[in-house]
Amino acid sequence: MQATSHLTFGIEQNKRQIERTLMKTMTCKQLGGACNMEFHANSFEEITEMSKKHGMEMFQEGDEAHLQAMSKMKELMQAPVTMEKWMEDRRREFEALPDTA
Ligand SMILES: [Zn+2]
Repeated sequence: MQATSHLTFGIEQNKRQIERTLMKTMTCKQLGGACNMEFHANSFEEITEMSKKHGMEMFQEGDEAHLQAMSKMKELMQAPVTMEKWMEDRRREFEALPDTA
């Protein structure tokens, strides 16, 4: 009865996923970073916090790719309008994502 137990397992897993809070996934790169690290959150604020924290960790480690990505972000921040538009674009991107558990 391999097939049956497999099916049951699948249903159990689905249930567990639905019970968990729905999350969206964005990568470090999508959020202006440099790697493919994934962040899972259910709000844009939360996900930017996570990517910021990760960016700081990479910064402390002196990761070259992230340092470069950060200096690009700093340039962006010199122009508040550009930065606002950048954030807005990222938020729209986030909100367009499907909810996954
Ligand atoms: Zn990264």
